[in-house]
Formats: sequence, C-alpha cells, structure tokens
Amino acid sequence: MEKIYNFINGKFSPPESDKYIKVIEPATGLPYAEVPDSNNKDVDQAINFASKAFISWSKTTAQNRSEILHQIAKGIDSHADRLAEVESRDTGKPLSLSKSVDIPRAAENFRFFAEHILTFDFERVLDGHGSINKIIRKPIGVVGCISPWNLPLYLFTWKIAPAIASGNCVIGKPSELTPYTAYELGKIVKAAGLPKGVLNIVHGLGNNAGRAITNHSMIKAISFTGGTKTGKNINHSVSKDLKKVSLEMGGKNPTIIFADCDFPKMLKSTIKSSFSNQGSICLSGSRILIEDSIYKKFRSAFIKQVNKINIGDPIKKSTELGALISKEHLEKVLGYVEIAKEEGANILVGGNRIFFSGRMKDGYFMEPTVIEGLDKGCRTNQDEIFGPIVTLIPFSSESEAINIANATDYGLAASIWSENLDKASKVADQIDFGIVWLNCWMVRDLRTPFGGTKKSGLGREGGDDGIEFFTEQKNICMVEA
Ligand code: NDP
Repeated sequence: MEKIYNFINGKFSPPESDKYIKVIEPATGLPYAEVPDSNNKDVDQAINFASKAFISWSKTTAQNRSEILHQIAKGIDSHADRLAEVESRDTGKPLSLSKSVDIPRAAENFRFFAEHILTFDFERVLDGHGSINKIIRKPIGVVGCISPWNLPLYLFTWKIAPAIASGNCVIGKPSELTPYTAYELGKIVKAAGLPKGVLNIVHGLGNNAGRAITNHSMIKAISFTGGTKTGKNINHSVSKDLKKVSLEMGGKNPTIIFADCDFPKMLKSTIKSSFSNQGSICLSGSRILIEDSIYKKFRSAFIKQVNKINIGDPIKKSTELGALISKEHLEKVLGYVEIAKEEGANILVGGNRIFFSGRMKDGYFMEPTVIEGLDKGCRTNQDEIFGPIVTLIPFSSESEAINIANATDYGLAASIWSENLDKASKVADQIDFGIVWLNCWMVRDLRTPFGGTKKSGLGREGGDDGIEFFTEQKNICMVEA
C-alpha cells in the first residue's frame, strides 16, 4: 500500500494523528494507497510556516515569481506521463483524457499566470480632481484553496497558480478521494525552486482538515470548487471572520439545439458535453433541449452514437468512458435512474451498472444513459446528478427554449447550436448563465472570467479576476501641489 504525505514547509510529513484514509481505485474498487486524515493541528502548523514564508514571498518581484511558475509548468510537462497515469488511477477517468486534458491544462494554469502577472497592472495612478491617487494591489496573505475530485490537478492548480503568482502563500486541500497528483505536485514545486512554506498541501476530509482551513482566523481568503451544499456551508463559516471567498459550484447546464445547426458538428460535440469524464464535469450539458422539428432525427442519431461509446478499463487507449469515482457516487447516480422512472421517464438507453470480469470486477462502471419524457421542473431535470445521464427535452420556439434553460437554480454554463448567429446571440443574452458557448463546448481562453450565476457560483476565476481575488487594493492619495 503506497503512503501519501502532507507537504508542509517544503517537507513531506505524516499527519500529527498518524491516521490515514484508504484511497480506492474506482476501476477496481480496491484500495491502493493511504492518505493523511489531517486535523486542525496539521493545518495550524502549515499556516504558521506559510505566514513566515509570506514575509519574503510577498516582497518578491512579479518577474521572480513568473520564473518559478514557469519552472513548475516545465516540471509538470516533464512528469506528464506519470501524472496522467496516477490521475486516471485516482479518478477512474480514461488515461487518454487525463493525458490530453487534465495534465496539459495543469501546466498551462501555471504558464498562463506566469505570463499574466507580467502585464497585470499591480499599480496605477489617477490624477485630476485636485489629487493624485496611486492605487496598488498587494497579496492578501495566507489563503486556502479547496478543490474537488472530478478534475483534481487541473482545478487544484487553477487556484494555486494565481494565488502564488500574486504573492500569497497557500494551504491547499485536494479531495481525499483523489490526492495523488497533489502529492506529486509537492515534489514538482520543490524541484522548481518554490521557497518552502509558499505552497503547503494538507490532505484529509472536508469535515476535518477542510473545516480547519476555512475556520482558521489567519486564513485571509478561501477559493473553493465543489458542490453547492458544501459551498453554502463554507460561505456561512467564513462570513464570521469576513474572509474573502470565491465559490465555484454545481451546474445543470443546458445544450440548446436549433433545427438550423450544423448537425454533424453538434452531434459530435454533444456526445462529449454529455459523457466526457463520465458526465462529471461541472460544465457537462446534462439537459439537452432540441427544437421539435429535429427531435426524432436527433434522438435516433444520438442514441446510435451513445451505443458506440467504448466503456471499460481507463488505462486502455480505446476507452472513452471510465469508472465513476466511488461506490457511493455510483449508487447516487443509479438512484436517479429510479427517480426518473418514478417521475414517468422513458429510459431510451442505459440506466444500469456494468459488471466486468478480471481486474475490474468490482469497479464502479455504469452505462451512459439517455432519458426523455420528463417535465423541466422534476428532480431529474433539477438536481445536479454529476454522472453519465442526460435528459432530452423538446421545445417549439426560442422563448420556450429560454424558459426551459432558465428553469433551474443553477447558472454555470450553456451551449447553443444554430447557424443563425443573430438568433443564437439573442438567446445567449437572455439565458442566465455565467458562460455561454455558441456552436462549441468547453473552449477556454484563460483570460476570460470563469464562473456561474445563481447557485453555481460567487465570484469569477481566470485572467484578471483570478489576480484581483487574491490581492487587496490600497489607495494612496496626495493633494496636488
Ligand atoms: P464537495 O463539495 O463534496 O467537495 C469539494 C471539496 O471541499 C473537497 O475537497 C471536500 O473534501 C471539501 N469539503 C467538504 N466539506 C467541507 C467543509 N465543510 N469545509 C471545507 N472543505 C470541505 O464536491 P465534490 O468533491 O463532490 O465535487 C463535485 C462537485 O464539484 C459538483 O457539484 C461539481 O459541479 C462541482 N464542481 C464545480 C466546478 C466549477 O468550476 N463550478 C468545477 C468542478 C466541480 P472531501 O472530499 O473530504 O469532502
């Protein structure tokens, strides 16, 4: 059994309690590693070292920090194969996906912020109106970065990179279900020359290590990605100390398909937006809205493609759909098939657990599932299922599509498919989502704001927003002579 350690003040250390949690490989259902079950003592220790490191790190130049971030990106690149393998083993996602998306994007997060801080205005001057004002942005101090299991290194680094790029020190907590790439990141930042104490990684449970971070009085800001329920709890606890908070949470995203779309292009993309990463991406298009004149054509073409999806061992090159993260999550997702049936759904394809033989006989696999015949307000169309389940919903007009799309408490992302860009832009304007893709899905320019409305988010990540969140402004005012 492999052992994972905390990374505190540049050293790998066991948790103070010496307690560990088993890490299960979703494809086999078997434990293969142990991760620290850290508590408030480990968090206290990490914060004390981070506060000391902040004194010098906060005074480094942007150029100096940029060079170190570039070294970290290079370190990720040079260990990309190993990182992709352990990410796939931890999550159950196809190795081809962690190789092509998760790991390159983690390196890109560091590379992007390494460059972005060189052009970002940390200082600006306003004069006129009888005074000269120098407005400067300074790092906040020690910040907490808490991330989920679905895109482990990708989302962990999406927070850490802007935080350290702008001169803060970090206490990071990855999900205890998927800790391995965060453990490897500790080795990479050390080799890259990041001073000790700037990044500290404390593993463990949300209710133990996670809470200790969010409740700690010396933590100045929390950047969180995860479920809406957890986000709300965190928001409540950080409000006591008036900490800054950024919350990236759940989604129930619509894919809106008009009859005048480029059908083959749309179909290919919609298979991805429905089932990539086993449907466990906050941006997954779990509600597919189809203009009624092409509903039947779409349904049969879509089902044909779903039946071709290659499900199986994540390490096989040909695998397109891997295992779900845990037994509990698999049971939750399968439970939604039963809920959908009770709500009167027609299960068009899928709906069942898959049992393989050999090494995967206890793995958490499930068929990609397509459901129709449900009202927009039912639980299947309202709750974030976060698995390989999509619903098909017909619509007859632009206004009906807008109405169905907006009929959710979430507001993260939407895709619109139409060759009429005026119409698509009009619809984009009227739907309440933080990110809208026209004739594409999950295309990301890291300069743009990322985040959702309603119960999907509070604040934005990416580009200037990322740096602004992790800095505080100070205005120094002089009267003009
Ligand atoms: P959770 O909310 O369960 O957990 C997220 C992280 O928070 C984990 O590290 C978790 O630890 C930790 N945590 C849990 N409770 C607390 C607490 N009280 N205080 C501090 N930390 C805590 O989410 P999941 O890991 O299940 O991830 C899936 C969710 O993430 C989905 O809802 C998905 O939509 C959302 N997500 C949102 C994205 C976005 O950008 N909007 C992107 C990706 C995912 P532990 O694992 O021990 O519970």
